[in-house]
Amino acid sequence: MYSDRINSLPPYLFAAIDEAKALMVAKGVDVIDLGVGDPDQPTPSHIVESLCEAVHDPKTHRYPSYTGMLAFREAAANWCKKSRELEIDPKSEILTMIGSKEGVAHIPLAFINPGDVVLVPDPAYPVYNIGTQFAGGISHIMPLLEENNFLPDLDAIPKDVLSRTKLIFLNYPNNPTSSTADTKFFEEVVDFANENDILVVHDNAYSEMVFDGYKAPSFLSVNGAMDIGIELYSLSKTYNMTGWRIAFAIGNSEIISGLGKVKSNIDSGAFDAIQIAGITALSSSQQCVSDMNRIYAERRDVLQKGLNEIGIDVKPPKATFYVWAPVPEGYDSIGFSKLLLENAGIVATPGVGFGKYGEGYIRFALTQSVQRINEAVERMSKLDI
Ligand SMILES: *Cc1c(COP(=O)(O)O)cnc(C)c1O
Repeated sequence: MYSDRINSLPPYLFAAIDEAKALMVAKGVDVIDLGVGDPDQPTPSHIVESLCEAVHDPKTHRYPSYTGMLAFREAAANWCKKSRELEIDPKSEILTMIGSKEGVAHIPLAFINPGDVVLVPDPAYPVYNIGTQFAGGISHIMPLLEENNFLPDLDAIPKDVLSRTKLIFLNYPNNPTSSTADTKFFEEVVDFANENDILVVHDNAYSEMVFDGYKAPSFLSVNGAMDIGIELYSLSKTYNMTGWRIAFAIGNSEIISGLGKVKSNIDSGAFDAIQIAGITALSSSQQCVSDMNRIYAERRDVLQKGLNEIGIDVKPPKATFYVWAPVPEGYDSIGFSKLLLENAGIVATPGVGFGKYGEGYIRFALTQSVQRINEAVERMSKLDI
């Protein structure tokens, strides 16, 4: 019944985890879920109020514009200027997206012909690979190894692969490894992309989720990046707005326009009232962002200390709400996540769910209160590992 496209999808590990969790809950276990990367705190109230007001205005009820409201694109451009000194033309270099997942999934349709190669990190957000496959492209895996600070080794990609390569996906601050990239790495990427005629898509979903004074650089701030790349920013993680589905792409106008062509033939844009609330999020005080970061940093410290005490060596990540921890000796990532769930009632995501190079690691999401994370640490300390 299904297309080859659907039949060739890899099994969805996260569905199996959900099932295992539901079984434990049914047994009456008080499960602590550190699995899903979805903020637990509500959307800040000034953003919610803004939506309520906008939705009462019938002008927002009609089809939105394909490229997004100009006012939203202007607010996004101002935010880029303020937060990272980027000069972006709101008319030609920005596109509103219905979440960045939508952008990631649609980009290959605009640039990839069947047989073209896309460079995809591993471990990674699964949509880079799936979006590539849906477009008939071939994913070439770039292992993200701890010894390289979880950055891809661009020199290791074979020449015959590069000659067929059209596009590269990158994501820093990174999900799931919580690693970061510096400007020097982005400069190498620009040289690499120019030498090999490759488009760069940098997914910056965690751009604002940073700690200890760290600032995540923009890929587009590097010389020459605007000629060959785009960057995806999302309001989801930054403003606790995952359910709202609002994000934007910025960068090279031809790439932006290619993505826009796909979108105008598939969706009809983001609801205007949500874009108006997005304008409020981007244009108001960013205090809510630093408040959230303070909360995540405190949770991070509690979990890191707890893991270290039971012999799991993790350093405090500078960004993202993930802790990427090596699994103890004698376990693989699925085995250890099973142990955590069945013997401690803790959900964490096995690294292999993000690709084979995620094997040997487990991802904890800092999406529970300090009290609950303390409780998780307490339970883990009683495990015999
Ligand atoms: C959460 C996440 C996204 C999805 O963000 P939306 O804007 O909600 O679609 C994209 N990329 C990465 C790496 C993520 O972790």
